[in-house]
Amino acid sequence: MAKKFKVSESCIGCGACSAVCPEVFELNADGVAENILGDETEIPEDLEASAQEAADSCPVSAIEVTE
Ligand code: SF4
Repeated sequence: MAKKFKVSESCIGCGACSAVCPEVFELNADGVAENILGDETEIPEDLEASAQEAADSCPVSAIEVTE
């Protein structure tokens, strides 16, 4: 099953995830990251590695990955 990526409230808005995987993560008007495909959306396979890399690059481990 494909993975889902959810940005938690511990996001500090550093922008790392959106730099690594802009297809999925974007800083919103509140200055925190959001998954523009949707927290409950299974990420397309071709974006999964990049989204996982973005999650791994988060300095505060704010991106929750579920399978
Ligand atoms: S890398 Fe982590 S702290 Fe930085 S914007 Fe993304 S979710 Fe927020």
